[in-house]
Amino acid sequence: MPSQSTPLSLNWLNVIFLSATPILGIAGAIWWSATGQFNIATLVFSLVYLNLTGISITAGYHRLFSHRSYDAAKPVQWLFIALGSACFEGSVVDWSTDHRVHHRYQDREEDPYAIHKGFWFAHIGWLFAKNWRADGSAVPDLWKSRVIRHQHQRYILWSTFMGLVFPTLVCALWGDALGGLMIGGFLRVAINQQLTFLINSLCHYAGSKPFSDKITARDNWFAALLTYGEGYHNFHHAFPGDYRNGIRWHDFDATKWLIYGLSKVGLAWRLHEVPPERILQSKVLTQEKALREKLSLQTVKSPVLLEQIHKTIDAAKEQLALASERMTTIREQYESLKVQYQSLKTSQNKAFARQVADLRAKFYEAQRELKRSYQRWNAMRNGYMKLASL
Ligand SMILES: [Zn+2]
Ligand SMILES: [Zn+2]
Repeated sequence: MPSQSTPLSLNWLNVIFLSATPILGIAGAIWWSATGQFNIATLVFSLVYLNLTGISITAGYHRLFSHRSYDAAKPVQWLFIALGSACFEGSVVDWSTDHRVHHRYQDREEDPYAIHKGFWFAHIGWLFAKNWRADGSAVPDLWKSRVIRHQHQRYILWSTFMGLVFPTLVCALWGDALGGLMIGGFLRVAINQQLTFLINSLCHYAGSKPFSDKITARDNWFAALLTYGEGYHNFHHAFPGDYRNGIRWHDFDATKWLIYGLSKVGLAWRLHEVPPERILQSKVLTQEKALREKLSLQTVKSPVLLEQIHKTIDAAKEQLALASERMTTIREQYESLKVQYQSLKTSQNKAFARQVADLRAKFYEAQRELKRSYQRWNAMRNGYMKLASL
């Protein structure tokens, strides 16, 4: 992949396309609604198509192809490839190549959309300067797929058909072909693109860093609302192999729900989840760093008290680490026993089932202990944070 050393050599096709699409889309929408061409069927179709194509980027291009955080049935993959093409964000191979580099070299010079080169560079500028196409060598796992190769080699055909021709044809069914092209085509493409670009700019610029403070990626709930859950970007960069981005039940992560739903009907499998104790450990480490930075002789005043506080933090952290370790050990034992259990004949099952049940009980107890340790940690942290703020 070429280096970023010549950012001023512009790719004029990209510059013109990325600038003309929103202009055409907005001008088309004004013409369409102001001249009595407005058609409710076109509007509904465009909204549905916007979401279908957008979620094909997040669930397909991103979490399935770039990160392989789960597996999906072939027809689901084909649908993601076809609908993802409609967003004019490059082929799966191009998109995944850049994205894997973004993760591998995050916040470094090699990162194709590094935020330290500026908000607008990370948002869209890098595409104005992008003068290369991937050749598949960096993503050999994806290159094996005939459909992915075909999409890459005939990308303009795929994207023009799915992005512009298809919405025009659909809306022609109710006599609004031009509305289909303007609203379901150009305006939708512009929205799809700007929302994806927000992840590279806004989510490396504004928001919180609960899982790692060493990276620029941030959790931004507002961006998550607009991008089917991709806004929980600090978690995603900390654990890129996890099929979820928003891990709390109330986090708006429509992509996670879609993948989970697909798994429930047998269309997706091998959903990768990072064990909760590992996630908790990262969170606690980040919190610990912030807490220790806040505690100083200026804030606590007494050196004896300060030393005592640091010792208490050490102890609480140790307790959490032990509870996490115990949970990991029991989980591993439980998983291996479960595999053996499933391969046994029914006659051998009874004694074995008792062992599995025993271990399951221990696992739940370890889970409760970890929860209690975290609650104690939190109470302690809140208390010391308050003390340091007095
Ligand atoms: Zn990122
Ligand atoms: Zn990613």
